[in-house]
Amino acid sequence: MRKSVVAIVGRPNVGKSTIFNRLAGERISIVEDVPGVTRDRIYSQAEWLTNTFNVIDTGGIELGDEPLLVQMREQAAVAIDEADVIIFMVNGREGITAADEEVAKILYKSNKPVVLAVNKVDNPEMREDVYEFYSLGFGEPYPISGTHGLGLGDLLDAVVSYFPEVVQEEPEDDTIYFSLIGRPNVGKSSLVNALLNQERVIVSDIAGTTRDAIDTPFTKDDQDFVIIDTAGMRKRGKIYESTEKYSILRALRAIERSDVVLTLIDADTGIIEQDKKIAGYAHEAGKAVVIVVNKWDTIESHEKAIKEFEDKIRAHFQFLDYAPIVFLSAKTKKRIHTLIPKVMEASENHSKRVETNVLNDVIMDALAMNPTPTVKGQRLKILYATQVAIKPPTFVVFVNDPELMHFTYERFLENRIRDAFGFEGTPIKIYARQRS
Ligand code: GDP
Ligand code: GDP
Repeated sequence: MRKSVVAIVGRPNVGKSTIFNRLAGERISIVEDVPGVTRDRIYSQAEWLTNTFNVIDTGGIELGDEPLLVQMREQAAVAIDEADVIIFMVNGREGITAADEEVAKILYKSNKPVVLAVNKVDNPEMREDVYEFYSLGFGEPYPISGTHGLGLGDLLDAVVSYFPEVVQEEPEDDTIYFSLIGRPNVGKSSLVNALLNQERVIVSDIAGTTRDAIDTPFTKDDQDFVIIDTAGMRKRGKIYESTEKYSILRALRAIERSDVVLTLIDADTGIIEQDKKIAGYAHEAGKAVVIVVNKWDTIESHEKAIKEFEDKIRAHFQFLDYAPIVFLSAKTKKRIHTLIPKVMEASENHSKRVETNVLNDVIMDALAMNPTPTVKGQRLKILYATQVAIKPPTFVVFVNDPELMHFTYERFLENRIRDAFGFEGTPIKIYARQRS
């Protein structure tokens, strides 16, 4: 099921990123822990009542030296292209400005549902002032305060009321959806072409196009696959489509629809910080990951080179220690046959279920091997564990007190589970829950 997308639009300083951050909540993020990266985030998952959706802060898409009006127009275009519902944000302390009217005109023509949020209404007396915003033509203005978190409930009620009705879930099929991510020029399109031109690959002649991306279905060895193109429907000449943030946004949306994400590295130029950031998105999204070292033809390929490169990758991508690494060349097609089997294996592990009794045997053995720690005189007690979800495999461990479950012990349990069941290619999640 595709998640609904909400975009926030409005001129600078009305409080878009403040609201975005509130909606995104506190998400643990290895990628964004890097200083200076946090403000990069313009796309996040959010929750309201029973809805999980994605939110885009269009204000984060900056277009260098373009004049304000051009920036606003482009940001509104992103919202119109990407979102199911648009939050149009204005500043309740300043009234309607010419720039607000400009944005309103663009949104008005879009046929997308627009909810008008009047921000910086920090106290109840100010609520009287929002009526002037009716004249923008988007119906009821919702007074909110990003700083104090006021009014968000009513605003979100209005937003989710526009989400498309949840359609009957499609029958579970075993098609493997995957995407290729990596910085420009790592060889993503070359690899897609190489894969599709391989022997015994049957490419469906009806390339299913969705609104988000161009999907290519194909079959190999009786397994159905769909490649989700991260580039999507780009190259329509809009300014924002050439920005880095927008390409990240596109990659994130492709990742979200994937079972397996191939994260590409260029053997020729080596690993750079940007690779790590991009790979981090796949990990965070809980997708199966295969690391692909492309352009292996440029390296004198002996076993030692592979070992060295592998060590380098493991050092740089510690958070992806479960991901298999494939070395290949999209250009010469050398070793390219090793890729699809890894994709299949990763996908299988991503949706693997283990039996509760076997799982508990493994946990009990682990406990015998490495007794639980004591914190301030209290010992962690593990009662039992169960797998609660797949994609990725997710386990709940019932304990006397979740506070006593430390990262290192959780990591130890994860490793024991991995050793026992073989979850190569997929992240696994472990949650501690209280049960006395
Ligand atoms: P953006 O440019 O639209 O993303 O705006 P920001 O979220 O960066 O906010 C611009 C400024 O407005 C910041 O100084 C915020 O602290 C402030 N701000 C945001 N929301 C509120 C609010 O509800 N009330 C008040 N008084 N200030 C706010
Ligand atoms: P994308 O931007 O990630 O889609 O990268 P492209 O597929 O457009 O490839 C970028 C450049 O790298 C092109 O000049 C390709 O010919 C080249 N390239 C791609 N794969 C390989 C490879 O395996 N070996 C070598 N030597 N060059 C490659």
